[in-house]
Amino acid sequence: MVSFALHGIGVSGGIAIGRAQLVSHATLEVAHYTIPATKVDEEIARFDHAVGAVQEELKQLHGTMMASGDVPGEFGAFLDVHWMILNDPTIAEAPKRLIAEQRCNAEWALTQQMGVLVDQFNEIEDTYLRERKSDVVQVVERVLKRMMGTSGALPTPAAEERTILVAHDLSPADVIQFKQHRFAAFLTDLGGVTSHPAIVARSLAVPAVVATHNARQMIHDGEMLIVDGANHVVIVNPDRAVLSEYRLKQGELEIERQKLKRLRTKPAETIDRQRVELHANIELPGDLEQVLESGATGVGLFRSEFLFLNREGLPTEDEQFEAYRSVAEGMDGKPVTIRTFDLGADKSKEGLDGLVRVAPNPALGLRAVRFCLAEPRLFLTQLRAILRASHHGRMRILVPMLASAAEIDATLAMIEQAKETLRERGEPFDANIEVGGMIEIPAAVLAMDAFLDKLDFLSIGTNDLIQYTLAVDRSDEAVSHLYDPLHPAIVRLLALAIGGAAKAQVPIAVCGEMAGEVAYTRLLLGLGLRNFSMHPAQVPALKQRVLTTDIAAIKPLVDRMRRTETPAKMVALLEKLNA
Ligand code: PEP
Ligand code: MG
Repeated sequence: MVSFALHGIGVSGGIAIGRAQLVSHATLEVAHYTIPATKVDEEIARFDHAVGAVQEELKQLHGTMMASGDVPGEFGAFLDVHWMILNDPTIAEAPKRLIAEQRCNAEWALTQQMGVLVDQFNEIEDTYLRERKSDVVQVVERVLKRMMGTSGALPTPAAEERTILVAHDLSPADVIQFKQHRFAAFLTDLGGVTSHPAIVARSLAVPAVVATHNARQMIHDGEMLIVDGANHVVIVNPDRAVLSEYRLKQGELEIERQKLKRLRTKPAETIDRQRVELHANIELPGDLEQVLESGATGVGLFRSEFLFLNREGLPTEDEQFEAYRSVAEGMDGKPVTIRTFDLGADKSKEGLDGLVRVAPNPALGLRAVRFCLAEPRLFLTQLRAILRASHHGRMRILVPMLASAAEIDATLAMIEQAKETLRERGEPFDANIEVGGMIEIPAAVLAMDAFLDKLDFLSIGTNDLIQYTLAVDRSDEAVSHLYDPLHPAIVRLLALAIGGAAKAQVPIAVCGEMAGEVAYTRLLLGLGLRNFSMHPAQVPALKQRVLTTDIAAIKPLVDRMRRTETPAKMVALLEKLNA
């Protein structure tokens, strides 16, 4: 057997060794034939039956997801999108007309309609919505598979084998099954760093390589694969020497992981005895178990908008209160930071009762706190729910995307109004609840005094801060090579924000992806950061890095990084810092 390597984007690190299991791509195999006039009704019934079966399948997946409670919130939103596509008349009704008019088979009628809908998506200017055309294809594939007699479900791996899934693309529904079946790794032809499979791989901590272009065509079922996520590579049919080398590496990584687990209860303290707080980012209350296992000392970011994206309609005050209270109680007195709804842009939900419109430039539009201030009823409902939950634990309110003093004032006035309502109702809450702001827009750093004067704490959202400073859309693969956390402008903004907060004695954290990447830990520590919030799976490795850092010793290098204008020098200095 020929051994070869495929390259892609490693979106989740680690090494997996196992047998390939291909996921079929039904749309490539659709037959086209004419049916007799007498069989039209039967053909339409066959189509309806398949659509009904997929509706049932999606409902069941939704049910399983809700019952397990530990599925990241994105999946629910993805399933909702699939549900809407499946019930769109273009997919659910129009093919029946085609069957009757053209007397073609149901599979062909549906495939034609898929083309119509994909063309409509191609016309959309908004990148996020345009990308949803891959969801259209995935939904159609599910229905096609039903009609062609194969179930839409993923193959179930044999228990004793380590199975590596090879797919052209994976749908959200696939991804949930992926979680249930515990595949060892996966590769996809398509996708980018922020694609659905990438998100799930990171949250499950399994190795994954996406954007391999033609892995699905080049790899055969049952072939031996090595997936090396950190090095962005897949080795097909490795020879014995390569295999044993990777087995060795895999063993070393596992030992390392087990060692890190033992750090769970150890305080995060640097060699020169500086205490560091490592908090966790969560999307749903179900993520709490992982937080407690990770040894995180608080929740630094609860992305509350996932409560929204994961359902039909708006969550009521009581539903939100229950969600926030369960996290507050679960964290048992440790701080829980609820970020108020960050809806809009990449986190829009079509049909959100018509509330979120598709803006010409959503990332610069009515999103996050701007949207909340424009929809006071929705905002006040959330604020009351958070305040009520503050009676059951140590809650903090974090407001996303603030840019100006006026927005801070308007938000604080809303919080006062919510408190007043609860007083009138006689409901208990923490009257001294801390209110913080996210630093995600360069303007917030460059004119930080209002933030320091009016707020109790700050949290830097580097994902957006980088996007807005460098004018690089964080979810657009075409410009992902320009998305650079080490750009001199970013390092300076971070230094300004962290330094400014320290001087004013206002606590500051970083809760964007940078906080969870070990490569940047020393840089951030050297800039003065003492509070990091990240995905729970990243906490142990971060703690290890903190424990092996002497801040006084690295400070001169970090000071040089703050001053340098040369990208190559910046990279060289970072390497030295991490050596
Ligand atoms: C950020 O922007 O860095 C952040 C933490 O928020 P989100 O990724 O949810 O936009
Ligand atoms: Mg953000």
